[in-house]
Amino acid sequence: MGEDMTFAATVITLYPEMFPGPLGISLAGRALERGDWSIDAVQLRDFATDRHRTVDDTPAGGGAGMVLKPDVLAAALDSVDDGRPVLAMTPRGRPIDQARIRGLAAGPGVTILCGRFEGFDERIFEARPHIEQVSLGDIVLSGGEPAALAVLDACIRLLPGVMGAPLSGAEESFEDGLLEYPQYTRPQEWEGRTIPEVLRSGDHARIAAWRKSMAETDTRLRRPDLWERHSGARVQPASGAQRETKD
Ligand code: SAH
Repeated sequence: MGEDMTFAATVITLYPEMFPGPLGISLAGRALERGDWSIDAVQLRDFATDRHRTVDDTPAGGGAGMVLKPDVLAAALDSVDDGRPVLAMTPRGRPIDQARIRGLAAGPGVTILCGRFEGFDERIFEARPHIEQVSLGDIVLSGGEPAALAVLDACIRLLPGVMGAPLSGAEESFEDGLLEYPQYTRPQEWEGRTIPEVLRSGDHARIAAWRKSMAETDTRLRRPDLWERHSGARVQPASGAQRETKD
């Protein structure tokens, strides 16, 4: 706060009225008012060159839907591109994770390209190789805007001074490659169920050990993909036979 620490978000979209949207409320909204971050929603259509302001055309090779034109995308991107990372939201991209979010939040901001219809003409990624294609996960949205809002939300809550207790960021899911341990709050008994006794013991070492063990068990059961990476990174397999050098 104070200094020139504004995280500058630029979103290129056919629906600029979707921004800041939910990010104008609560934590992110107050941070926006304070100037901890800024948002510039750029109308892609403003960069169309014909009198019908065309932004899309039919897919080469046939098929349903429409594809965003590379010339219009490039004109819009080039008009705002200033060295900040550029993300294109697409289910064909690398699933974004908390490590990448941390990297973005530590930088000057981000420019995000939102797709619509069938997505982007592939040549935009060849011609502007600094564009990073990222996905929100293995789901298909109708447009990149909700994905952009999610990525920005994840970045904003990490900005200095935005989240009340600075420590609450460090112990969360994914920060150490594990899911977070389960949480409980009052009432102590609810519908016949009690809070695990250890959490009421006041014994901080026991509590920490219980939480670590729960985080490991839940990650192993719920997210074998995360668990394999986490345990594989620390523990060598007993027999070197199955896995030689994976990393
Ligand atoms: N035909 C495309 C899907 C297009 S969905 C395909 O099968 O790959 C329309 C737009 O929504 C995309 O261009 C992208 O910007 C956005 N979108 C959809 N799902 C997404 C996801 N999982 N992550 C990020 N953006 C997504």
